[in-house]
Amino acid sequence: MTDFEKMAELLLPDINKTPDYYENIYPERNLPEGAAVTRIAPSPTGYLHLGVLFMALTNRITADSTGGLMFIRIEDTDKKREVQGGTEDIVNGLHNFGIDLDEGFTFEGQKGSYGPYRQSDRAEIYQTYVKELIKKGLAYPCFCTAEELEAVRNEQEKNKIRTGYHGEWAKHRNISYDEAKALIDEGKPYVVRLKSGGSEERRIVFTDGIKGKIEMPENDEDFVLLKSDGIPTYHFAHAVDDHLMRTTHVIRGDEWISSTPKHLELFKILGFKAPKYAHVAPIMKMDEGGKRKISKRKDPEAAVRYFIEEGFPPEAVIEYLMTIASSEFEQWRRANKLEDYKKFPFKLKKMSLSGALFDGQKLLDVSRNIISVKSAAEVSEKITAWAEQFDGEFAARLNKDKEFTGKVFAIDRDVPKPRKDLAKWSDAKEYSAYFFSESFVPCYEPLPGKIDNKTAAELLEAYLSVYDPADEQSEWFEKIKGICPQFGFAPDMKAYKANPDEFKGNPGEVSTVIRLAVTGRVNTPDLCGIMRTLGKEEVSNRILKAIDYYKN
Ligand code: GLU
Repeated sequence: MTDFEKMAELLLPDINKTPDYYENIYPERNLPEGAAVTRIAPSPTGYLHLGVLFMALTNRITADSTGGLMFIRIEDTDKKREVQGGTEDIVNGLHNFGIDLDEGFTFEGQKGSYGPYRQSDRAEIYQTYVKELIKKGLAYPCFCTAEELEAVRNEQEKNKIRTGYHGEWAKHRNISYDEAKALIDEGKPYVVRLKSGGSEERRIVFTDGIKGKIEMPENDEDFVLLKSDGIPTYHFAHAVDDHLMRTTHVIRGDEWISSTPKHLELFKILGFKAPKYAHVAPIMKMDEGGKRKISKRKDPEAAVRYFIEEGFPPEAVIEYLMTIASSEFEQWRRANKLEDYKKFPFKLKKMSLSGALFDGQKLLDVSRNIISVKSAAEVSEKITAWAEQFDGEFAARLNKDKEFTGKVFAIDRDVPKPRKDLAKWSDAKEYSAYFFSESFVPCYEPLPGKIDNKTAAELLEAYLSVYDPADEQSEWFEKIKGICPQFGFAPDMKAYKANPDEFKGNPGEVSTVIRLAVTGRVNTPDLCGIMRTLGKEEVSNRILKAIDYYKN
């Protein structure tokens, strides 16, 4: 046995498999040429961050557009950050947005033959690969304490030397078997570090799927592979996992670019083919005149839960994220209005290089469009479901008479040019308030045009005498026009527009007076539909009350 082999046995005596064992049980995937195997690798912190949703979407469409697949791996090596049920929260949260995983922890349970898909269940695998590196003299134990490392750093800073555990600063780089054994016998804790073969003088070049050619100095740091508890660092777990899970595309946040030389070195010394990397810029916010990363601490929108609570349809959030994901999406959407976004020919290299700004106004616009083309039945059902979860009072109102509620949200829907009043389900409360006696707030002002209170009362009286709740749109408007001449109002809009000074008002203004009386608002969807929905008794009562108001 060489000293390196003895060292490997000393450090990892219980590991008796070899990398070949794992290579055989996780063979190359049998997929068509060009099919991308992608993944997301979140930590189970019980919090679906907008960035994770965006990353999941990017990975999903990359897999789908190439006929590949996407899995989820749970990176739970930092137990301090873990939250009970955190994995389910992420998986269910993504499912809510129509993003499902093919392997790993899926909405239908655990799937796939490249697992375990949780890093804490993979300790033996990582240790097997580390043992192999130790045997080859490519990794070694380091017994430095936190204080010693701190002292080295201070010394480096003082001398304006690049900080880190590299070159002559790597104290245990050449530790012998006997030295290590003595320290272990003393019970000294240690980590296992890579014995880097890189040099700062040499450059490494790789082609990023989004950012193109990237050139950086090689890694020369003896970074940690296994922590003192035998748990790997992100760097090492990433290399082993993405190799064994046969990931072809590592699409991840661009905060990892600076670590990529480390990862490429690992892939090389482990004898693995490196995946294609694509580093996604984070979603940004405008703050005090500057751009910054969207932040968990400062921005409610950082948590995906926020969009659900506000009542954005998940598909609207996805549609909006697609506009961030690709500058070509909106143009495609204009030409393919009703097509599933999954049909969009997504290209990683068209992604934004610097972070796209989160634009809440645009999200509202996108969402308005999406809601406007939904069927009346779906809108009514989704609003009710939202209210049941987030606004009990509103839900009770909607559930009292479901047929009536259905009619309320059917007004101006399923028509060629639907109105765009609702941007989110929570808007429905205010939007529909006047339909329900408990939330109707009468308001009789401002009267339109030159109409005074007396005329308003007379107009309403005249209208009430011809009002028939069965009137359809055209008869309804004929009746409004019909009462115009007796008040010196133009009989139609055309006549009015030709000579506005000749008339005291026009039919549009008359309908506004009725609208105010019936809804308390000057702007609503189709008034005839509203009146038909409210029914004769309620409409007549409201008009009578308005007359009363204008008379006094
Ligand atoms: N756990 C890492 C993160 O959340 C995963 C990065 C990756 O996709 O490799 O940033």
